[in-house]
Amino acid sequence: MELRVWGGAGEHGRSCYVLTGEQHRIMLDCGVKKEGTGQYPLLDADLIPQLTAVFLTHAHEDHSMALPLLYKHGYQGEIWTTKPTVLQLELYFANWRKYVERRGGELPYDHTHISAMRFRILEEEAEAGDWLLLSDGFSVQWGRSGHMLGSVWLRLQLEGHRIFFSGDFSRESALLANDSPSVHTLYESSDEPNLFPPEMTLSIIDNAYGADEQSQSQKLNALRQLILEVLERGGHVLLPVPAFGRGQDLLLWALSTFPGQHLLIEQEIREGLQQLAEWKDWLRPGIVHAINKAMISPNIHIPVSWDDRVRLLQGENSFIIFTTDGMMESARARWYAEHLSSSADHAIVITGHASEETFARQLLKGEIEGTSCEVIQMGYKIHQGLDDVRLMLHEVPSRHTVLVHAPKPVTDQVADRLAEEGARGIYSLQPGAVLNI
Ligand SMILES: [Zn+2]
Ligand SMILES: [Zn+2]
Repeated sequence: MELRVWGGAGEHGRSCYVLTGEQHRIMLDCGVKKEGTGQYPLLDADLIPQLTAVFLTHAHEDHSMALPLLYKHGYQGEIWTTKPTVLQLELYFANWRKYVERRGGELPYDHTHISAMRFRILEEEAEAGDWLLLSDGFSVQWGRSGHMLGSVWLRLQLEGHRIFFSGDFSRESALLANDSPSVHTLYESSDEPNLFPPEMTLSIIDNAYGADEQSQSQKLNALRQLILEVLERGGHVLLPVPAFGRGQDLLLWALSTFPGQHLLIEQEIREGLQQLAEWKDWLRPGIVHAINKAMISPNIHIPVSWDDRVRLLQGENSFIIFTTDGMMESARARWYAEHLSSSADHAIVITGHASEETFARQLLKGEIEGTSCEVIQMGYKIHQGLDDVRLMLHEVPSRHTVLVHAPKPVTDQVADRLAEEGARGIYSLQPGAVLNI
């Protein structure tokens, strides 16, 4: 069997892997990269009609937004994914179009290719952890990956090989539940333990945070400390976050960490929290209750107009502000930045990835003139760092392990370190690579 990397290894973006056996040709994800007017996977158009199955681990653009290209190039099959993922795609397509057009680019596909996409819903056909037989010699198992609503990891039984794809993975979300991919628990509880011996032939593992070894609680402690300092000196703290994602985690965290503190929340983020409560199966126990409590919190202020925002920011209270758009490309995120930039008392905290050339990145690099407020990057984990990878290597032993989702030099460093620690078969690859397993 052969793995082709069409994107996603040695870089942040355009996740796309193709596994070719004797009868099957399987694609895992087909995303884009936020660089220039958008970068797409290194698709081989001749191979696309031969794909026998396509899987999508979650809705983020770096895993999903190149899928219509498959239909443009003649794929006629289905895309296996989850219900929440399908429902979120529409918004991601709208945002991706905006991203491309704002940079003077053009989408390489049109709406006919988007509407040609056909989906099969994993959780409608098998429970998490159960094997689903798709065709002769080909079964799949899925589990919640704790990275975003609807995100999954996948394990394939393919022509005698066992293949694990972590997708984007986190065990440390405050809101989202995850299913352990550990072969030890999954196989030992099986009635037929010898049917699926534990070692994988190949694992493709999220290591977006490279050699970073910090846990979520260490990161949140540092963020808590910073916010306390800013509030004590009478400043506002701006947290630009995606409309749906870590913003809801951080909002519930802020409510419990700073009781009585005033929060200025843009409507979309509150709506996101409300929507999340409808997906109980994807949440940790007790979260629906916490969300319902948050919805009626007297400390949350939702601005209804520009005047309202100005009034709140110029009033007596210091606010923790949640606005949409983690990379701060939108007019409103920039408005907040401008409003806070005049005083060194305020702080802007970037909690996620800031792509090159985005406003958030420019702010971090000090390239926006007249910015006297503090600008700092303090991550909230939704991916895996080095320690998480170590644990995953233990839980999912594999003959070949490809680390993905970080720049090549970062992955090289991690692969070297793991090799020094005695791990075997760790690969740092890049787009275009072919690995024979
Ligand atoms: Zn993701
Ligand atoms: Zn990703």
